[in-house]
Amino acid sequence: MERTDTLVVGSGFGGAVMALRLAQQGARVLVLERGRRWSPQSYPSVSGRHWRWDERRPERHNGWIDFRAFGDMSVAAGAGVGGGSLIYANISIPARPDNFLRGWPAAISYAALAPHFATVQQMLKVAPLPANQFTPRTRLLRDAAEAIGEGKRFTVLPQAVTFDPAWHTRRERPYDYRHSRTWTNEHGRVQGTCVHCGNCDIGCPVQAKNTLDLNYLAEAEQCGAEIRPLHHVRWLRPAEEGGYEVGVRDLAAGKDVRILARRVVIAAGSIGSTELLLRCRDQYQTLPGLSDRLGHGWLSNGDFLTPARYPHRDISPSRGPTISAAIDFLDGSQQGQRFLVEDGGFPDVVGNLLRRRKRRLLTDPFAGLGKHRLIGILRHLISKRDPLTGLMPWFGQAQDEAGGVLSLGRPWYAPWRRNQLRMKWDYRAAEPAVEALSSMHVRLSEATGGQPLVPATWRWFRNLVTPHPLGGCNMADSPEQGVVDHRGEVFGYPELFVMDGAVVPVALGLNPSQTIAALAEYAAAQIAER
Ligand SMILES: Cc1cc2nc3c(=O)[nH]c(=O)nc-3n(C[C@H](O)[C@H](O)[C@H](O)COP(=O)(O)OP(=O)(O)OC[C@H]3O[C@@H](n4cnc5c(N)ncnc54)[C@H](O)[C@@H]3O)c2cc1C
Ligand code: SF4
Repeated sequence: MERTDTLVVGSGFGGAVMALRLAQQGARVLVLERGRRWSPQSYPSVSGRHWRWDERRPERHNGWIDFRAFGDMSVAAGAGVGGGSLIYANISIPARPDNFLRGWPAAISYAALAPHFATVQQMLKVAPLPANQFTPRTRLLRDAAEAIGEGKRFTVLPQAVTFDPAWHTRRERPYDYRHSRTWTNEHGRVQGTCVHCGNCDIGCPVQAKNTLDLNYLAEAEQCGAEIRPLHHVRWLRPAEEGGYEVGVRDLAAGKDVRILARRVVIAAGSIGSTELLLRCRDQYQTLPGLSDRLGHGWLSNGDFLTPARYPHRDISPSRGPTISAAIDFLDGSQQGQRFLVEDGGFPDVVGNLLRRRKRRLLTDPFAGLGKHRLIGILRHLISKRDPLTGLMPWFGQAQDEAGGVLSLGRPWYAPWRRNQLRMKWDYRAAEPAVEALSSMHVRLSEATGGQPLVPATWRWFRNLVTPHPLGGCNMADSPEQGVVDHRGEVFGYPELFVMDGAVVPVALGLNPSQTIAALAEYAAAQIAER
C-alpha cells in the first residue's frame, strides 16, 4: 500500500493552504482532488460540455460545477485543482470582528485570525477595482447608496484579481483578450491582467484571477507536495499501525486504490467533507465515534439575488468582474438584521459562443461563398450585442441562522439504491435575514429608477440557492457542541482534521473564502507549534 505523511482531500481554500503550510513544515504531502486540472485552453466555458460534476457518476461527468438540489435548498460548489477559486467571483474580504462574538470555540477570535487574514491577502494579491475602471454596476451601487441617504456605506471590494491600471473602456474593443498584459508571478506561474470580459464565474481566459492553482498550490508543489487530480476519496478508517487508511477511486484509471497516511486533512468543502464523514460514520461505520453533531448546524450564509430591470440605464452585467462593490449593512442598523448588498454579474455565454463560432468559420475552408459576410455579421453581433444591458442582478449575503441538517438516506420508492446525501432545510432560520436583504434590494433599485422582481422561488416557495455553503462539521469546544476543535482536529480521532467551509459555525453575511483560508493558516500554525 502506498504511504505518505499527510494526505489532503480537496484543493480549495482550506486544502490549498494546508497543503502548502504542512509541506513547508517538512511533511510529504499528497493532495487528492476529485476534479480535473483546468487551464484556459481546456476550460469548459463555452462548449456546453464537461461543465457538470456528478457525485453519483464522476467517471462520466467530472466538470467543474457541482450543483446539488436538496429540495428547498440548492448548493453550487467548484470541482477541480483550485476548488471554488476556479469559478468564484474573486471577492476576498475578512469576516468582521463581531462575527466572532458567539458560536466559535474560545480560542478563535478576530484577533487570533487577524495575522492570517493579512497572509491570505498577500498570497492572493488582493486589490480593489482601480478607480478608473468602475463598471456601470459599481456606479449604480454608489448612486443607490446615496439615493437612500446611506452613501457612506458604499465600498469598493477587494478582489483576488490582477488589474492593469492602464486598461480603460475607451480603447478600441476594450474587452478583447489581447489587451491583457502577461506577467510571471513569484511562484513561477504566467498570468495576465484583467480585461473586464465578465467570465469570472466560468474561468478567467487570461489568468488575471489569482486562483489557488497559481499561488498556494503552485508553491506547495515547489515544496514537494504532489497533487493528483481525478482522485475521488470514498472512505477512511484508522489503521492498525497508526494513521489512517484512505480508500480512493482513481477516476482516470477506473480503479480503486488505498493509501496509508499518518495524518489526514479533509478539505472537501462544506458539502463534500460532511458527506464523506457521514458515509464513514453511518454507511461504512469506519469512524463510528464521530460526534452526533455531524451534519447539524449547516448554513446558507443568507445568499440572495434580486434581478431589476433598468429601462433607461446601461448596466452591462456581463462586463467587468462579476462583483465589484458593496453597500454595507453588517452593523445591524436595519432592525437588527446584518447583511451586505453587492452587485452581481454573469458571463456572456452567448457572446462567448459567437466568438467561438467565428473562430471555427475562419478556419473552416468549406464555409462557402458567404463566409466574409457571415464573419462581418458575427463581428458586429459580438461587439454590439448585449441584450441584457438593462438588467441589474442585486446580490448579497446575510447573517442567517443555521437551518440545515445533512444526513444520508435512501428514497422511499427505491430502498435498494445507494444512500444519498439529503438536507432537511428549515427556511425559517434564514427568513428574517433574507427578507431584510431582499427588501433593501427593492428599496435601492426603486430609488434609482429600477423595476425589481423578487424571485417567485423565494416569494412563493421559500427556495434558495447558495454558492457559499458553511458548516456541517462545525468547530466547537466539545464533541457535544461540534465535530472538530479550534484547529480542525476531529474529536476522538487524533491526526484527522477537517479544514474548509464545513468547520465555520456561524453565517458571516459576506463572501467567506478569505475566512476559510485564514482558519486554515491558523490551524497549520497550531500544528507547527505542537
Ligand atoms: C459561482 C461561485 C461564486 C463564488 N464567489 C465567491 C466570492 O466572490 N468570494 C468568496 O469569498 N467566495 C465565493 N464563492 C464561495 C467560495 O468558492 C467557497 O466559499 C470556497 O471555495 C469554499 O472553500 P472550501 O475550501 O470550503 O471548499 P472548495 O473550495 O469547494 O474546495 C473543496 C475541494 O474538494 C474537492 N472534493 C470534494 N469532495 C472530494 C472528495 N471526496 N475527494 C477528493 N476531492 C474532493 C472539490 O472538488 C473541491 O476542489 C463562490 C462560489 C461559487 C460557486
Ligand atoms: S473580468 Fe474577465 S479578465 Fe477580469 S478577472 Fe474576470 S474573467 Fe478574468
